[in-house]
Amino acid sequence: MGNVNSHLMPTYKRLPVSFVRGQGAWLWDDQGNKYLDALCGIAVTALGHSHPAVANALADQARTLTHTSNLYRIPQQEELGEKLCALSGMARAFLCNSGAEANEAAIKIARKYGHQRDVQIPGIIVTEGGFHGRTLATLTATGSQKVQAGFEPLPLGFSRVPFNDPAAVDNMAKKDHSIVAVLVEPVQGEAGINIPSPGYLSRLREICTNNNWLLMLDEIQTGMGRTGHWFAFQRDKIIPDVVTIAKALGNGVPIGACLAQGEAAEVLTAGSHGTTFGGNPLACRAALTVIEQIERNRLVSRAGELGYRILHELQQQLRDESRITSIRGLGLMIALDFDRPCAELVTICLQQGLLINVTAEKSVRLLPPFILSNDEADLLVERLVNAIRAYN
Ligand SMILES: *Cc1c(COP(=O)(O)O)cnc(C)c1O
Repeated sequence: MGNVNSHLMPTYKRLPVSFVRGQGAWLWDDQGNKYLDALCGIAVTALGHSHPAVANALADQARTLTHTSNLYRIPQQEELGEKLCALSGMARAFLCNSGAEANEAAIKIARKYGHQRDVQIPGIIVTEGGFHGRTLATLTATGSQKVQAGFEPLPLGFSRVPFNDPAAVDNMAKKDHSIVAVLVEPVQGEAGINIPSPGYLSRLREICTNNNWLLMLDEIQTGMGRTGHWFAFQRDKIIPDVVTIAKALGNGVPIGACLAQGEAAEVLTAGSHGTTFGGNPLACRAALTVIEQIERNRLVSRAGELGYRILHELQQQLRDESRITSIRGLGLMIALDFDRPCAELVTICLQQGLLINVTAEKSVRLLPPFILSNDEADLLVERLVNAIRAYN
């Protein structure tokens, strides 16, 4: 199979490989080759592929009831909302179908919150390198010219500051009185696993509180246990006003959520926001099963443990590798920076039976599943180190 199909819009640069089956941390292609998945469909299949409990729950729910619409009460959605709020410290959930949609809900909350406080053109502070999705509002919040180019006119109301720079946010507070919220990733994912200094989120919390702004955290990639905490903000012991999640929430079933507490939780009312599919019984049953499995198997702390093991081994085994400028991670978000563009590593790893990703041109990004055995974690390191040695 080639890498182009003329009946699909060429929106993706696809690798010439197609998977037909998955089990745990492993994928098989249509030629029978087997790959260790250190990417999880971009931080999605945290429980691994074809997870039996998720598969059974989906089959059972599909046979019982898939969709009814939000014109009616949906018990699975109510249960999921309660569960997500208990885990995050939030008060209310809005269920949707993707990360970008979860952020759209957050942006709408911020704007309506601003209007309620008589701000005419409410503004949201976003960061350089931040990634928030591909809809018009979320690509505008995204700090990448490549993502925005050609889609002008872009919506107004976003102000950009450098990431990991609370002083820049503070300065904005002094000069721009239309700001009502800050939207930021606790760890920047697409930009190459940028981990801010300790205290960054607490400083943002302080600034937001002092100015009556909403602190809105995009935990679409960091959430659901990936950093070794259910949510990355819990490491900083703060409570945001709004949290968005998606990726690992359904282990591959499309679902997202915008969670909020305090005033932010009361902003959206009947008729002000909605979605046809969002929070349907099938997707919510998947998410409920994912949460139950993460809890039952203590996978949040396991993600932290595995992350430490992989990071430590990579730092040990690659310490003489002069082309690598940084090896860092938080839980199972791990990156290696090269001093040059290193996109070829994706293909070299593929040949070694390992799925990785290169982002921001020079960063190898690993987002492995939480269900790796220690042997699989060691094999991941071995294959990546071999690929890097073979790459010149
Ligand atoms: C993936 C991602 C999104 C967008 O999610 P989609 O489901 O692709 O719309 C937004 N923010 C962050 C931090 C992400 O990693």
